[in-house]
Amino acid sequence: MIKKTIRDVELSGKTVFIRVDFNVPIKEGVVEDDTRIRGAIPTIEYALENGAKVVLASHLGRPLKDKKKAEEKGVEFDVSKYSLAPVAKKLSDLLTKPVDFEDSSELSDGYAKISALQDGEIVMLENLRLNAGEEKNDPEFAKTLAKGVDIYVNDAFGTAHRAHASTEGITHFVDTCVAGLLMEKELAFLGKALNDPERPFVAILGGAKVSDKIPVIESLIKRKVDKLLIGGAMAYTFFKAQGFTVGKSLVEDDMMPTALEVERKAKEAGVELLLPTDHQVVDSYDPINSRKAIQIEFTNAGLVGLDIGPDTAARFAQALEGAKTIVWNGPMGMFEEKPFDEGTLAIANAVAEATANGATSIVGGGDSVAAVNQAGLADKISHISTGGGATLEFLAGDELPGVAALDDK
Ligand code: ADP
Ligand code: MG
Repeated sequence: MIKKTIRDVELSGKTVFIRVDFNVPIKEGVVEDDTRIRGAIPTIEYALENGAKVVLASHLGRPLKDKKKAEEKGVEFDVSKYSLAPVAKKLSDLLTKPVDFEDSSELSDGYAKISALQDGEIVMLENLRLNAGEEKNDPEFAKTLAKGVDIYVNDAFGTAHRAHASTEGITHFVDTCVAGLLMEKELAFLGKALNDPERPFVAILGGAKVSDKIPVIESLIKRKVDKLLIGGAMAYTFFKAQGFTVGKSLVEDDMMPTALEVERKAKEAGVELLLPTDHQVVDSYDPINSRKAIQIEFTNAGLVGLDIGPDTAARFAQALEGAKTIVWNGPMGMFEEKPFDEGTLAIANAVAEATANGATSIVGGGDSVAAVNQAGLADKISHISTGGGATLEFLAGDELPGVAALDDK
């Protein structure tokens, strides 16, 4: 599992291709949230300080897929929204250093810029996904990317679950392929939690769909997590499978047998599985004024459950006391709508408190990370994972193609 990193190789005078994840929100040509850009800076600065010529590459959105959709609907398509130019500018500001931008996505031209690079200089390529070869993992495109490259560095953990030309294909055409510092950090935290966790190990899972999370739940049970707390809409599939009325709450009927199976497996493995005992419901005819906390068993057909209740929040918080490893994915309720963020915020606070008391905590998943940021608690969590799908696949125990392709120690 331990991979060679950028620290293990000689960089001076070398052309170093760094695959980063600069898939950031951009509005009217300005980067709205630069978290991902800042995440890659340690790797970029390390390469520059060690005398490398740096080529940066990322994807941004899904331009070709969106273009196809727009054409099918007959609406206008503005490809300029998919340019990484604003990101190059933002990066230049953050580094206080010029970042040359290759604005052509035709890389045969772009590579002229690379051969002209001097030690300590940076060029950033245009959005890789403007080229059909990227997502197809086309060997010809991968070969083009590898042209003139001495060392390949993958620092894009969030894209490592995809075998694309810039995450997998390219590694067949470059001799030295190593992990960047952000990738190293992700693998260290997630790998330790999964393979050698300090105990008690408590996992919290929530979010909308059981089907999204089944592989993760099964992998955590197999690894004998000590406690598994399940909240969010996901819990209703368990309740309905147990014979409770869940009203109009979100349920995946076809996942009910799987939910029962999960409960059986948890029991067999000696994993303590905690489900909510109460929840915040609204009357589906008057959702604004009807919020109330009730016990799960009192739910009637007209109600919708949108958050865990206070008893559950307290029980879950108690279950986190004394934990040494915590993994959290998936909010406890519809946290985007106040006051249905209360349950999620209570759990975020409990995780932060357990962390202050010595737990290593990991939060992964786009919405879960957004919730922790919304709570202002990001710096009280040991590790905020930059991956959504990649984090889930990693926790499910799958090997990520972008990681598997790197050199071992
Ligand atoms: P993550 O992105 O962290 O992996 P998910 O995408 O699985 O999380 O789940 C987040 C979504 O689940 C949010 O949009 C949230 O509103 C929704 N959700 C959670 N609980 C409920 C609920 N009880 N009813 C409706 N939606 C819910
Ligand atoms: Mg999500």
